Amino acid sequence: MTISVSPEAAATTTALRALPLLCRNCGAARDAGPAAICEQCLGPLEAVYDPARALPARDAIAARPTSLWRYREWLPLDGEPVHSPDTGWTPLLEAPRLARRLGIARAWVKNDTVSHPSLSFKDRVVAVAINAAAAFGIHTIGCASTGNLANAVAAQAARAGLEAWVFIPHDLESGKVAGTAIFAPRLVRVRGTYDDVNRLCAQAADRFGWGIVNVNLRAYYGEGSKTMAFEIAEQLGWRLPSAVIAPMAGGSLVTKLRKGFGEFLGAGLVDGALPRIFGAQASGCAPIARLVERGDDQIVPEIPRTIARSIAIGNPPDGRFAARIIRDTGGWAAHVSDDEIVAGIHALAEDCGIFSETAGGTTVAAALALSRQGRLHADDELVLCITGHGLKTLEALGDISAAAPVIEPRLREVAALAAAVGS
Ligand SMILES: *Cc1c(COP(=O)(O)O)cnc(C)c1O
Ligand SMILES: [Zn+2]
Repeated sequence: MTISVSPEAAATTTALRALPLLCRNCGAARDAGPAAICEQCLGPLEAVYDPARALPARDAIAARPTSLWRYREWLPLDGEPVHSPDTGWTPLLEAPRLARRLGIARAWVKNDTVSHPSLSFKDRVVAVAINAAAAFGIHTIGCASTGNLANAVAAQAARAGLEAWVFIPHDLESGKVAGTAIFAPRLVRVRGTYDDVNRLCAQAADRFGWGIVNVNLRAYYGEGSKTMAFEIAEQLGWRLPSAVIAPMAGGSLVTKLRKGFGEFLGAGLVDGALPRIFGAQASGCAPIARLVERGDDQIVPEIPRTIARSIAIGNPPDGRFAARIIRDTGGWAAHVSDDEIVAGIHALAEDCGIFSETAGGTTVAAALALSRQGRLHADDELVLCITGHGLKTLEALGDISAAAPVIEPRLREVAALAAAVGS
C-alpha cells in the first residue's frame, strides 16, 4: 500500500525540527516537545542550542531578508520555517526631542507598533511558536492573552490555516477584541483576570493536546523576543546602547533582551558593555517593579487595576528572573499612574510621530520617572521598546476628538480659527 504524503506535510515533519529543552531550575534535560514545565521540579524550560553550531558574521546576516529569521541561528528551530516568514525588522528611529525631555545624550524608539501582521511585538514570539507547533505536527494552537497575543495568534493562525483557540478576559478593550475576532479564531471571553484565563488555558492544553503558545510552547515562544535585541544592535550599526527600557507583563521580554544582547556579545558581533536594562509597569499592576524596589526574591501577586491592560499580569511567570536581571545589569524599574501613562502616549506622539498603546505610554512615563530619580545619565544612549499600536487602546484617551472644532465649509471660518491661534 502506498501512503501519499503531501509536500507540505513532508516538509513539516522532515525539514523543520525544534531544539531540545533544559530546565532552568534543576538542569534536567528533555526531548523537544510541547512541554509546559520540568517534570522533575516544575521549573521553566529553555531551548538548548548546540554551542558548536556555525554562526554567521555581520555581513552574512546583513545580506539576508529583513525579517526576524535573519537571526535564525539564535532561534530554537532547525530547518526552514514554514509559517510567518515576514515578521520582524521594525524601524528603529532616533528621537532627539525625547532625548532632551529625558536629559540624556541620545534616544531611539524601537517601533513595534508597526509589527507585521498584528501591530505589536507579540508577532515575534508567535512567529517562533507557530513554527514549533508545525515541527511537532500540532494543528491547533491557542493562547491566554491580555490582548496583543490574541491578535498575533489569531492573525498568524489564519494565514497558516491552523485552528486557533484564543482565551481572553471578558472585558478587554474593543480594539483588542475586534483585532482578534476578525481572523475568526475560536475566541472565548472568560469572566476573570488574566491569571484565571491562564490557568484555564493550561488545563485545556493538557486535555485537548493543543499548542498553547505561552504555556506548553513557551520555551520556544520566549526566544522570539530576543530578536528585538538583535535588531536594535544591528540597526544601531552593530553596537549596543548604554540602556534599554521595556514594558513588563509576564517579565519575559526584559529577560530575553538581556539574553539577546549577551548572545551577540558572545558571538563577537558587537562589543562593549551589556546595556543597563530598565523595566516599566503601571502602578495599578506592578509586581515586578515593586520586587526590584524591595530587592528580595519573591513576587507578591497583585489584582490588576490599570488602563494598561496589555501588561497587567498580577502573578508574572518570569517576574523573579526579570527583577534579578534588571538589578544585575545595573538597571532599575519604575511604575507610573494611569494619568502619567496617558501623558506618555501624548508625549511619544508629539515628540516622535508614533501612536502607541498604553504599554508604550507606560514605557515613556517610566523613562521620565527614572530620569527624575537620577537613574539615567547625561551621556546615556537609551532605546525605548514601544511594543503595541495606539489604535488598539483608544478607550485610554477619552474623547480625543472633542478638541477639534467643527465648522461650516467656508474660508471665513478657517480664517477665524487661524486668527485665534495667531497663524
Ligand atoms: C506582552 C506585552 C509586553 C511584554 O510582555 P512580557 O510578558 O513581559 O514579555 C509588552 N508590551 C506589550 C504591548 C505586550 O502586549
Ligand atoms: Zn527542573
